[in-house]
Amino acid sequence: MKRPSRNLIRKTVSLASALVAGRRVANERICRRIEICARCPYVRIKRTRKGRKMLCRICGCRLRGNRSLINLARYEEAKRYGCKHPRGSRWKKEGV
Ligand code: SF4
Repeated sequence: MKRPSRNLIRKTVSLASALVAGRRVANERICRRIEICARCPYVRIKRTRKGRKMLCRICGCRLRGNRSLINLARYEEAKRYGCKHPRGSRWKKEGV
């Protein structure tokens, strides 16, 4: 049986900590974050039968404009959680 990669384990731990202890951000901030991501060169937009799906290419996390549980834009950024843009968090730079 193949063992999960370190990267996958790190992502899972990071998401789990956000789900358990992360503080949620207001809907307006989620929407502003999604607007920032939509302009980011690291976003991946997948078309599915249900519509558009946005993923961050750096961490692989889902980005949604709503309060879905598994949504990178839903929680306050923490040391290991949030926008991982190589030049620093784009959200933090724009104050969201
Ligand atoms: S790097 Fe940051 S701004 Fe870019 S898609 Fe990922 S989360 Fe969004």
